[in-house]
Amino acid sequence: MIINLSDQHSLVSTWISELRDVEMQCDRMRFRRNLERIAEVAAYEISKRLEWEEKEITTPLGISTCKVLVSQPVLATILRAGLGMHTGLLNYFDKGENAFISAYRKHHPDGSFEISLEYMSSPEIDGKVVIISDPMIATGASLVKAIQYLKDEGDIKELHIVCAIACTVGLEYVLREQPKATIWCGDIDDELTAKGYIVPGLGDAGDLAFGQKMQS
Ligand code: URA
Repeated sequence: MIINLSDQHSLVSTWISELRDVEMQCDRMRFRRNLERIAEVAAYEISKRLEWEEKEITTPLGISTCKVLVSQPVLATILRAGLGMHTGLLNYFDKGENAFISAYRKHHPDGSFEISLEYMSSPEIDGKVVIISDPMIATGASLVKAIQYLKDEGDIKELHIVCAIACTVGLEYVLREQPKATIWCGDIDDELTAKGYIVPGLGDAGDLAFGQKMQS
């Protein structure tokens, strides 16, 4: 299932417009914070779909029957571009566990690239809700590889994917590979360049959030 958070009028549209704006992008702190804010909204929406149970809480004046999450989700992200959205998810699911996966595009001289995964740090994920963030779903290849990497560790109970901007072909690919996933998008674009950039998109999310890197 795909949910485009821009389908409804909300502040998400403001934050997406700022992320895309070539002049506002110069402000890296705002760029990171906008990724974080979109992930916070996604976290809130996802929380409505999780399992809750009642718990008696002692206040200074009595007992209140409150709702609490049955279990905490595992928040996963792909280094380094996913860090901003990961922070947003963790701001809301503050008791969540965390998984980090490193993935990068290994470019070949002919312009093609392959996805290389080199590192993962993950808690037990068997039977858990996993929320994975990746700001840009372009081809979807790195995301699918990262999810497969996580799934090698156990059976995920429920999978949510959170992104800022997704491209339609990437979404189709991710859903073909992970048909039970729910994908939360800040917005959706139709075009993908031969080099794997989303158009109009916003550029390189990792560079805009953290600065340019030496490796291509
Ligand atoms: N990753 C990015 O940062 N931007 C794109 O357009 C595609 C992938």
